[in-house]
Amino acid sequence: MALKVNPDERANGQAAPATTNVTIDAQREAREARIHQLLRDDDELLGKAYDSRLMRRLGGYLTPYKPRVIVAIILMTASTLFGVAGPAIIGFAIDDGIRAGSADVLRLWTIVFLVTSIGEWLTNRARVHIMAYVGTRIVADVRSELFRHLHRLTLNFYSNYSVGRLMSRLIGDVGVLLDFMTWSITGLFRSVFNLVGIVIAMLLLNWQLALVAFAVMPLMVWLTNYWRQRVRQAYRATRQRLSLINGFLNESISGIRVTKSFTRETRNFQYFDDLNRSFFDANVEATRLAALFFPGVDFIGSLATALVIGVGGWLVLGDALTAGTLVAIVLYVERFFDPIRELAQRYNTFQATMAASERIFELLDLQPDLVDAPDAQPLPRVSGDVVFDDVSFAYREGDRSVLHNMNLHARPGERIALVGETGAGKSTIIRLLARFYDITGGSLRIDGHDIRAVTSDSLRQQLGIVLQDTFLFTGTVADNIRYGRLDASDAEVRAAARAVGADDFIRRLPDGYEAEVGENGSNLSVGQRQLVSFARALLADPRILILDEATSSVDTATERIIQSALDTLMKGRTSFVIAHRLSTIIGADQIVVLDHGRIVEQGTHEELLARRGRYYNLYTMQFRKTV
Ligand code: ATP
Repeated sequence: MALKVNPDERANGQAAPATTNVTIDAQREAREARIHQLLRDDDELLGKAYDSRLMRRLGGYLTPYKPRVIVAIILMTASTLFGVAGPAIIGFAIDDGIRAGSADVLRLWTIVFLVTSIGEWLTNRARVHIMAYVGTRIVADVRSELFRHLHRLTLNFYSNYSVGRLMSRLIGDVGVLLDFMTWSITGLFRSVFNLVGIVIAMLLLNWQLALVAFAVMPLMVWLTNYWRQRVRQAYRATRQRLSLINGFLNESISGIRVTKSFTRETRNFQYFDDLNRSFFDANVEATRLAALFFPGVDFIGSLATALVIGVGGWLVLGDALTAGTLVAIVLYVERFFDPIRELAQRYNTFQATMAASERIFELLDLQPDLVDAPDAQPLPRVSGDVVFDDVSFAYREGDRSVLHNMNLHARPGERIALVGETGAGKSTIIRLLARFYDITGGSLRIDGHDIRAVTSDSLRQQLGIVLQDTFLFTGTVADNIRYGRLDASDAEVRAAARAVGADDFIRRLPDGYEAEVGENGSNLSVGQRQLVSFARALLADPRILILDEATSSVDTATERIIQSALDTLMKGRTSFVIAHRLSTIIGADQIVVLDHGRIVEQGTHEELLARRGRYYNLYTMQFRKTV
């Protein structure tokens, strides 16, 4: 936003800073409004704290680890029993040992106490160990299921889903699940078990005094309800804001080059500070609630202890209660509030897990909108005869068509140049040929096989696709060339590189073919990246080549190398080229001129020039100047 400066104020030079402040405030308001809009758009569900349908589905992941989980539950039960026995044992030691003056009995109960403590420690340790193993395995299973599933989804899905959101599913939601799986399955039961065990032990020891202790329960229920109702919103707000921060971090780092070139750093800092502050504010609210609840629980605990000591002490004085029982009940009261505190703390994990698993399952339930027909056959090795027969296509059902009744016949080995203005449908044609989308009308045949009747794998194995924005994977140059044919020998990799003229520059790299290309080939120049991608396509030896010629300009020497690489690549293969180079267009067997999804002219360079129609105009206005 431009700074608004009132000319009158500018004249006296005094009021300008005030105006600047107003404008900065307006900018800040605009940014805050944007944050709120993002929060509204955010798909973080508030989620139920407990959803039996989700729990059953999550439980399904436990099945392969059933024996381990059963052992963990047995261990958990044992450790709870050992733990609950502690205060009662101390009570017996006081009454039957100390007060009765029997050193033997005191020794006996002391040993029993020691044994139960060791028992509790060992069983707990084993349980935590087992559940950490099971939880980590389950989460690895879910992660790998998600990863596989994402590879099955079609490009339609990727056009509608942002990478940031996917990453937050794969990392954030799966992380929440890990926390839940390792702790909750037994931890939750342990807390409930403990609570029930303590109540029973107290009632058995002295039910009247137990009821005195439970007199604080209405207060506890009120506090817990207050907490429960508010904390969900508060934690949701912090999570949402954290996900905005993560999203912005992701985007800023990926786009750092653009940010620097447009010197947007300061704006980015301001926006990030706003996000950070918004997270801070939400966090302060969550902390305020925690500061209210947990000390509150402690206070109610002390209140219960005071009641028990007051009433119990009075009973002891009147000989209606032994001192040992009183001590045992006081110890139980203290322990009683631990599981409550733990359950309250875990309440958020529980609710976050429900929301996270809901989103993970939603993603896993998405069906790929393009699957092989049940009777799909592998496509035999083809000669490359491609027919578009009255093909129509719309990206989504109900959308307007982007290709209308298109007819095109490419004979084996022919070069087809697709030209037309932006948005004419050139990329759509090559996406249909690779069956990234299914045509909505007509048929598309290769060597007489309808591409919907063959398996996608067998189809794509015979296609070589070289796109404008060459994507190289982290690894060595050789790895990247070998990407489409893993069994290729080193000699074959080199031969492919030599054939496209890449061998020279590769050998000059510090580690030659073993040089790391960096993330998405960042260590190589644009032209070098293109050559590596040509070598990759050549090595895979496809029958049909799909090429989206790069528009980026390279120096004349590289241009010449690329040109001859392309000739090598296209030789003997049916090639569909979204052509930007004049030489590719002139050398094509057929030039297909597209306009708004229709073929408006078709023929060789000379034929089309002679017609003095659309191609002639394109050629004279656009292509000729690139010579
Ligand atoms: P350019 O030369 O700019 O790459 P193009 O000729 O390759 O353009 P296409 O990408 O095939 O054009 O686009 C044809 C039409 O289809 C355009 O109107 C475009 O808006 C639309 N389109 C492209 N991709 C999608 C998509 N994933 N979902 C919906 N519509 C799309």
